[in-house]
Amino acid sequence: MPETRLSGVAVSPGRAGGPVVRVAEPLGEPPRTPPPVDPAADAARIEPAAAIVARRLEELAATSHGEAAEILTTTAAMATDPALIREAERLVTVEELPAPRAVHDAAGGFARSLAAAGGYLAERVRDIEDVRDRIVAELLGAAPPGVPDLPSPSVLVARDLAPADTAGLDPAKVLALVTEQGGPTSHTAILARALGIPAVVAVRGLLEFDAGALLVDGDTGYVERADPRAPVVTAVRPVSADWNGVGSTADRHRVKVLGNVGSTSDARAAVAAGAEGVGLFRTEFCFLDAPGEPGVAEQRAAYAAVLGPFAGKPVVVRTLDAGADKPLAFLAPEPEPNPALGVRGLRVAFERPGVLERQLEAIAAAAADSGAEVSVMAPMVATAQEAEWFAKRARSAGISRTGVMIEVPAAALAAGEILDVVDFVSVGTNDLAQYTFAADRQLGAVAALNDPWLPALLRLIELIGEAGRAAGKPVGVCGEAAADPRLARVLVGLGVTSLSMNAAAIKAVGASLATATLADCEAQARDALAHRKDAPA
Ligand code: PEP
Ligand code: MG
Repeated sequence: MPETRLSGVAVSPGRAGGPVVRVAEPLGEPPRTPPPVDPAADAARIEPAAAIVARRLEELAATSHGEAAEILTTTAAMATDPALIREAERLVTVEELPAPRAVHDAAGGFARSLAAAGGYLAERVRDIEDVRDRIVAELLGAAPPGVPDLPSPSVLVARDLAPADTAGLDPAKVLALVTEQGGPTSHTAILARALGIPAVVAVRGLLEFDAGALLVDGDTGYVERADPRAPVVTAVRPVSADWNGVGSTADRHRVKVLGNVGSTSDARAAVAAGAEGVGLFRTEFCFLDAPGEPGVAEQRAAYAAVLGPFAGKPVVVRTLDAGADKPLAFLAPEPEPNPALGVRGLRVAFERPGVLERQLEAIAAAAADSGAEVSVMAPMVATAQEAEWFAKRARSAGISRTGVMIEVPAAALAAGEILDVVDFVSVGTNDLAQYTFAADRQLGAVAALNDPWLPALLRLIELIGEAGRAAGKPVGVCGEAAADPRLARVLVGLGVTSLSMNAAAIKAVGASLATATLADCEAQARDALAHRKDAPA
């Protein structure tokens, strides 16, 4: 009997099902050899392949609306750009490159000129690369890489997805998302939750599981074979709990319930869900596709748009957290053997302080434009000296309230010294778990270790809570642990003073806190600390 059901890690709630669309693997660079046997004939394949790609893009534009339709029409025109096609043909007939490689190299030349031109033109680099990959795939008879254009609502199946791919998904077309790789705190999972798309990651055997249709349960982690003729099931979400909008325990111990945002639509969703402010604004999510460093004016406008819905409310803006699983083209480090342990987060700013200074200037201006009560915090801080370095620069930029994230075990152990030099800390449990358990947050095989209930992680949070109490300064949690309504009570019992999460979790967490007294939370924290859950189930 073939398997009818697989299981993975449920990362975004809701149940949905429908036809499967597979995300093709990246093609890689086409080889330069062997040279074509008949260069003229090989060159003659390019124009028809480009025409097919353009036609597909135009068809898609016809069924899309607004900005998406405009982008698709422009991209279709790029595919049949005579200059691109003539250059590719020349590379085949004169330089004797195979047609796929010729298209790759010709498009590369165009992309470099666009990047050098800067501004609006530089933003078209991704589009020309997209066109390039589509024509190359057509010439090779392969599926175009990346997220395919979905003709109708479908379940997306992939080995893994880049954050930029996930951010661009249309929740109206993507019924659910299932990946073979990825962990509960990977950015794909975080973005799927923000978009309200049910998702299951780390599903072993998924890519060999031959199914025309799937039913995906983002609450239990089960992925079942479904009848392809059965009607599409759109996400069924749990009924949201009742909450009065003021975060506190039953005995009025105040714990702010805040939103995690990375875009204007996230900000609106957080306000609609009742967020009392923002505990984590991931600024890098504004620029996942940016080919070059956005100017101060562009950054100011992007940040002000996200801050706008929170005028008069507290918002913690995190400075760019680039690197490892969130690469930004304009902050790419030298190749590293272990990017998660390399130059990422604040470490990028040590090498390029100008980038941080320009960002802080833009944040300060956006704060004034929007009327939000803005604080800033730095990602990936390891020592009190690093925290002080950052706080000094933030204060010189005119941002008086500064903090840092605690995501590295060394920083958790030095929380007291760190709180001597900043106004608050916020615990990034996603990375803190990754580094505590030495378990890559993107890797399905070690997903069980990225479990925020594991006592070793809770003990580190307890240390941070104690340091916060001793310093009389706030300790937030903005990792995914804060979005678990039961764990939220444990975190409060460990001394955490605010919780920040995706919009979908806000009401349930607010309601959960309201049902327990502070003493209940402390008792639940003691239980969780003592619970021996040291081995993965
Ligand atoms: C974290 O690491 O917990 C965190 C909130 O930051 P990010 O998920 O963006 O790395
Ligand atoms: Mg982090």
